[in-house]
Amino acid sequence: MATLKEISALYDKYVMETYARADLLFVRGKGTRLWDADGREFLDFAAGIAVCSLGHCHPAVTKAIQEQAGTLVHTSNLFLNEWQPRLAEKLITHGFDGGVCFFCNSGAEANEGLIKLARKAGNEKGRNEIIVMNDSFHGRTLATLAATGRSKYRKGFQPDMPGFKFVDYNDVDAIRAAINEKTAAVMLEPVQGEGGLIPAKPGYLQAVRELCDEHGIMLLFDEVQCGMGRTGSFFAWQHFGVKPDAFSMAKALGNGFPIGALLASEKYAKVLTPGTHASTFGGTPLACAAACAVIDTYDREKVLENVRARSAYLAEKLQGFVGKYPCVKGVRGLGLMIGLLLDRPAGPVLSILREKGMIALSAGETVLRMVPPLTVTQEDCEKAIALLDQALAQVSAN
Ligand SMILES: *Cc1c(COP(=O)(O)O)cnc(C)c1O
Repeated sequence: MATLKEISALYDKYVMETYARADLLFVRGKGTRLWDADGREFLDFAAGIAVCSLGHCHPAVTKAIQEQAGTLVHTSNLFLNEWQPRLAEKLITHGFDGGVCFFCNSGAEANEGLIKLARKAGNEKGRNEIIVMNDSFHGRTLATLAATGRSKYRKGFQPDMPGFKFVDYNDVDAIRAAINEKTAAVMLEPVQGEGGLIPAKPGYLQAVRELCDEHGIMLLFDEVQCGMGRTGSFFAWQHFGVKPDAFSMAKALGNGFPIGALLASEKYAKVLTPGTHASTFGGTPLACAAACAVIDTYDREKVLENVRARSAYLAEKLQGFVGKYPCVKGVRGLGLMIGLLLDRPAGPVLSILREKGMIALSAGETVLRMVPPLTVTQEDCEKAIALLDQALAQVSAN
């Protein structure tokens, strides 16, 4: 049996130090629970960063992965495979009729696809700039990094890839002022995740949609974190009633099996022609079979209804902490990407929660972020609130 000490030593010696990891070695997961190497149980309100939305090792997804792994794993996109178009159909028929999918392996790769799509469509008209948002997060590849609104992530990697213009989020006038004859698209997260759980304000996305239509430019949504039911609707844009021209998905799509997708509306369905975009591992039978099982399970288990019920409870209870603890400045987020804005770094609260057997995240420095599995029960939520109450009391006393 692996021990924390032994595994830490291997990390130190052989793994590049690009992450600040907590000293926790998880060896098993089931539903909303994780167990570490010492057999300690944790309530998981991080879900592998909004990835394991059906909880850990959901039996339907495990079965699909096991069966497909023993049948056919990969053949490349030089050939057809039965699962890729089935997955595309399941995604498109959840409300993006007429659209088409491109499959890849991660959020950043899906966003790269969005950026390439917008440039390919725009360059024909001399438009190749994309308006992006301050405090956004789109990934760690060079193009998605250049589109990311936090300059600290770009530090040391200059020169930035050109072609992006930053404006404040939730400010439609700023977009209006930034649009010029070079503008190809506006790209944003319907709910900013890493930037601090900031949802689009009422009316904002409608106004941005109108502006894009007026100027004939594309509206691109990054739904890598807020998509796949996290906000209570299958696609986050459905919650706001504003349809993008193209959008990206990844995190929860495979419930932990790596897969990303780019979805383009009918109008832009034929922009990326044969040979213009590709991914060796994109849309393998294995990844797509896993994601098909994920979507079937969402529908069968009425996961979206659960998100709406559980998030209403959490929002109400979190609001109660605002008056109770002076360090809590407000409730942030939408659906089951929800949290607290603190007057201090979230790190120490997260450490206390870990000591008490609960895993949560931060978003930015001072937002405590909870992104539990979407299958989380009422009992799990009550437990999380009780533990958070204790942790806040403890930091307030210090
Ligand atoms: C996580 C995230 C990404 C990057 O996804 P990777 O799979 O890590 O490349 C991009 N956009 C948003 C909104 C994200 O939350």
